[in-house]
Amino acid sequence: MPVGLAGETTVGPGEDDPARAVLHSVFGFHAFRGPQAEIIAHVLEGGDALVLMPTGGGKSLCYQVPALVRPGVAVVVSPLIALMRDQVEALRQLGVRAAYLNSTVEWREAEAIEQAVAAGALDLLYVAPERLVTPRCLDLFDRSRLALFALDEAHCVSQWGHDFRPEYLQLSLLHERYPQVPRLALTATADHRTRADIIRQLRLEQARIFITSFDRPNITYRVTVKDNPRQQLLHFLRDRHPRDAGIVYCMSRNKVDDTAAWLAAQGRDALPYHAGLSSATRQAHQDRFLRADGLVMVATIAFGMGIDKPDVRFVAHLDLPKSLEAYYQETGRAGRDGAPADAWMAYGMADVVLVRQWLDASAAPDAHKQAERAKLEALLGYCETPRCRRQTLLGYFGETLAEPCGNCDTCLDRVDMWDASVAAQMALAAIYRTGERFGAGHLIDVLRGEAGEKVLRFGHDQIKTFGVGAERSKREWQGIYRQLIALGLVSVDLETHGFRLNDTAMPVMKGHKRLQLRRDPQAETTRALRGRRGRAEASTLSASPMAGDAALLFEVLRGVRAELAKEQGVPAYVIFHDSTLKEMVTKRPTDRATFATLTGVGSGKLERYADIFLTVIRSQSK
Ligand code: ADP
Ligand code: ZN
Repeated sequence: MPVGLAGETTVGPGEDDPARAVLHSVFGFHAFRGPQAEIIAHVLEGGDALVLMPTGGGKSLCYQVPALVRPGVAVVVSPLIALMRDQVEALRQLGVRAAYLNSTVEWREAEAIEQAVAAGALDLLYVAPERLVTPRCLDLFDRSRLALFALDEAHCVSQWGHDFRPEYLQLSLLHERYPQVPRLALTATADHRTRADIIRQLRLEQARIFITSFDRPNITYRVTVKDNPRQQLLHFLRDRHPRDAGIVYCMSRNKVDDTAAWLAAQGRDALPYHAGLSSATRQAHQDRFLRADGLVMVATIAFGMGIDKPDVRFVAHLDLPKSLEAYYQETGRAGRDGAPADAWMAYGMADVVLVRQWLDASAAPDAHKQAERAKLEALLGYCETPRCRRQTLLGYFGETLAEPCGNCDTCLDRVDMWDASVAAQMALAAIYRTGERFGAGHLIDVLRGEAGEKVLRFGHDQIKTFGVGAERSKREWQGIYRQLIALGLVSVDLETHGFRLNDTAMPVMKGHKRLQLRRDPQAETTRALRGRRGRAEASTLSASPMAGDAALLFEVLRGVRAELAKEQGVPAYVIFHDSTLKEMVTKRPTDRATFATLTGVGSGKLERYADIFLTVIRSQSK
């Protein structure tokens, strides 16, 4: 019978606000975040709400707290069947009476859950959308007292979005059938079309809309120029995330397999994930990722929605994402728990060439193609910007960040711009004088005066530009060509990959127009990375290395947590988040009263785990 411990919410002394009392005694949190309090108050008064918050913003509490305060069962509609079990398990660990109904639940168990719902013995019920609209389920709801409906991942109702689920369209019936039950729609997708769709399709015209900033201040954004991408990735992992869980995105299945195998050979726990693997393998790998400590998942974008793991510490891109929207979604899977996390991308000439080719291939003037092109231009613009990355990203989504963020590579490491007019003149002239047929390798040989076989064969040692750029390294010239392509001065032939001059190149080539370029930073080395730590990191323990015995205690606590998680078959974060373990290290509680003050320790977890962890802390603190 999947009904957990008693769900009473003991009201602590001086807590006459029932929502705050639940926050404290059940979740072990000290304060509401952002608009949570306002949203919860609105729902407790019976109002409908549309909640738009970024991933990790704290959407779940907006319905979980009212679920415990209002009488009756709260029904949570979620498309992510694979995750319902973990979500319900996390609630049970808190002592909340929760269950789920979806196609993985056997009928006998389903029947028991239904009885519990009708008897008012459950606080939260998670339901798959296709299940909810069945007569059987609706009949159950007719007979039950309902606290609220929470429609999670509400953007699934929109055909504009990326995760359209036709079953979601039927959810409008909730409004007609249960007009007195408050409804909350929640999503991390902010764009206007999707929002309008949600309101219309789910009949939320009367709902109050709550929008927060989409900024994710705990994520450090970095874009690095590809040199030797695997080594760069390895440096990044060794330096910043030697034991953390994270995701590495690649474009192709082959590259995913190769990269995962290579990382494993380097001693990293890494697994591949892509649509070419059997669904059993994919499921097994996803489970390992959710349950194991510190696994690196190398994946195509098939590894996507519903990576609900709160302690993903980094998302790395070895290939360009499809768009900035996709990039923000993918990197948004890092740091849901609010602790410092990295979004790291390596990109280079080949990526820029590819995007430029897509751009030229979609040269048709129709509106759709134009929109596509604008998206690709924005992506290149983000990669090459000398400005704050976060300002660029948020600006793209229509939000203004007044000051540079101080937590991205361009903020942390000064970006030098230089007057590249003369160098660009040379680079463009080399293209022109060799007949607009060659790619970077050959052009750079000509510029640097390297008379190899190919240069001699074409007689390019005889032209005026031969050797004029000898004083610049190959790498510098590559950076120059990459930026000329990104800026659209140079395009790339789809078949021959030869560089060609666009009209915009002419004034620069003729010296009529000056050109500023970004100076590429030196290749990321271990030493260079080590010197730079983001603002967010400085303010918390997370990424800063802990000193000797603190680090030891943390590892011991992690081990205890891992064992408890394994015993119960749940992800480690369901027992305690890293941040709670870190608080144990800094506060070293030795009695239950102090243990109860830790963030994330409510009465349920106090009962279950205080003694186990207190014993460990005491024995390590002697
Ligand atoms: P979302 O669903 O918006 O992506 P979650 O609801 O999963 O975000 O919350 C993200 C993380 O923040 C979770 O680990 C959650 O426990 C934590 N959290 C949410 N609200 C609070 C709060 N008021 N105080 C402390 N932690 C919170
Ligand atoms: Zn910045």
